[in-house]
Amino acid sequence: MTNLDVSHNLVLRLAITVINRRGNAVQVVVIGAGVVGLASAWYLARQGLQVTLVDRHADVAQETSFANGGQLSYSYVAPLADPGVISKLPQWLLRADSPLRFRPRLDPAQWRWCMAFLRSCNDAQVRRTIGEMLSLSFLSRDALDELLGEHALDFDLIRTGKLVVYRDPGALAAAAPMVDWQRSLGADQRILDGAGCVALEPALQAIGGQLAGGIFTPGEATGDCLRFCQGLKALLAQLPNVHLVLGREVKALVHERNRVVAVRTDHGDLPADAVVMAAGMFSVPLLKPLGISLPLYGLRGYSLSVPLDAAMQAPRLSVTDAARKVVYAPLNQHLRIAAMVDMGVARADIDPARITLLKQQVLETFPHLELTNAKAWAGLRPSTAHSKPIVGRAGNFSNLWLNVGQGALGFTLALGSARLLAAQVMNEAPPIDPAPFQLR
Ligand SMILES: Cc1cc2nc3c(=O)[nH]c(=O)nc-3n(C[C@H](O)[C@H](O)[C@H](O)COP(=O)(O)OP(=O)(O)OC[C@H]3O[C@@H](n4cnc5c(N)ncnc54)[C@H](O)[C@@H]3O)c2cc1C
Repeated sequence: MTNLDVSHNLVLRLAITVINRRGNAVQVVVIGAGVVGLASAWYLARQGLQVTLVDRHADVAQETSFANGGQLSYSYVAPLADPGVISKLPQWLLRADSPLRFRPRLDPAQWRWCMAFLRSCNDAQVRRTIGEMLSLSFLSRDALDELLGEHALDFDLIRTGKLVVYRDPGALAAAAPMVDWQRSLGADQRILDGAGCVALEPALQAIGGQLAGGIFTPGEATGDCLRFCQGLKALLAQLPNVHLVLGREVKALVHERNRVVAVRTDHGDLPADAVVMAAGMFSVPLLKPLGISLPLYGLRGYSLSVPLDAAMQAPRLSVTDAARKVVYAPLNQHLRIAAMVDMGVARADIDPARITLLKQQVLETFPHLELTNAKAWAGLRPSTAHSKPIVGRAGNFSNLWLNVGQGALGFTLALGSARLLAAQVMNEAPPIDPAPFQLR
């Protein structure tokens, strides 16, 4: 018997169809067509299920997956909750140019999340989390290779590695033990001095003298998440067992005791044998009436998309400014720059003061960039306090599944999370240990 309530005797996998007890094709409704929902739909459809992918926008990836930092950051999966963060918190919270901004609210969910975050700031948990996250990120990397081996997806993928640069020698020295430890877990990383960083990325010349050094990870890649999502949408549209329902807002989940039987939308009900919640931050209000409290908090961040021309001295390599927590991803026609964490905001609105600050920081690092036509964007990272996504069954509901909380790494982790989810839905041997990613 699979977790879909499909009787084993009646499961009939004709070419690509799984049949339920009533002899009909098993209907799975995936809520949310961001990168996580699209990837979920892909792997579930490949399992032979009848998949309906529903989103409130007329196209896919119109929210957090729209203009993110573009990093496929398979070896940089360390949680935000790190013991080092606690000593930095006062300056981050008080300084106007801080990468992290915290607005306290009379909101119990915010304080619960903050307490869980602080509890996660210990060495033992950080190391355990990194190990668990690397298993998921390496699964995602392999899944991308597999996908690209089968299908030509054009999403400005560049596999030139990632260079994290440090101005402060103390910060670089502090990062070194983690490099050793991650190397022991299979992450290929090397430490460079300042001159080595400039040799690798000549656009860093202007700040070469200020650089203590950097960490180079050759296996990292960058790409455009929106274009990746559009590619997945095109693949899904070719499958006979996938139904894309765009421009329809989900209002509620209709359930009978511990089973969801339909997804209620603003244009009627979608019947469901199983439901996958992949609606990012908006999964929280949809699950609340079912008594499921998702421990997610929206961490707002910003990006700039800078049109590139051949004459501009822009980075050609993925660069991260460690102190300011700014990432630079060269895409085909654009340089994507992403940064900042605003906590205590409910909406993905652009705060002009944060964009001004970001532009100033960018020009201090790459003074030759032309930012006049840079396009600003903001999104809410759907984040757990320990930075691990939640991929598995939702509480006591037998046919309700979660694929949420990828936080700052949703593009990186989408394929691995979706593969892990699909294996659990089908009650098959999971590709990695699912235990660390269950809802507690
Ligand atoms: C500034 C910034 C930079 C980032 N940089 C990176 C990076 O470099 N690398 C990386 O890996 N990750 C990065 N991320 C994180 C990544 O963008 C997110 O983790 C990822 O996009 C989350 O995908 P998702 O599918 O869960 O959510 P979303 O993309 O938000 O998708 C959720 C979907 O659900 C739909 N939805 C919600 N409610 C309803 C409803 N009621 N009815 C119907 N549809 C609904 C929405 O319309 C949306 O399409 C960044 C995020 C930000 C904000």
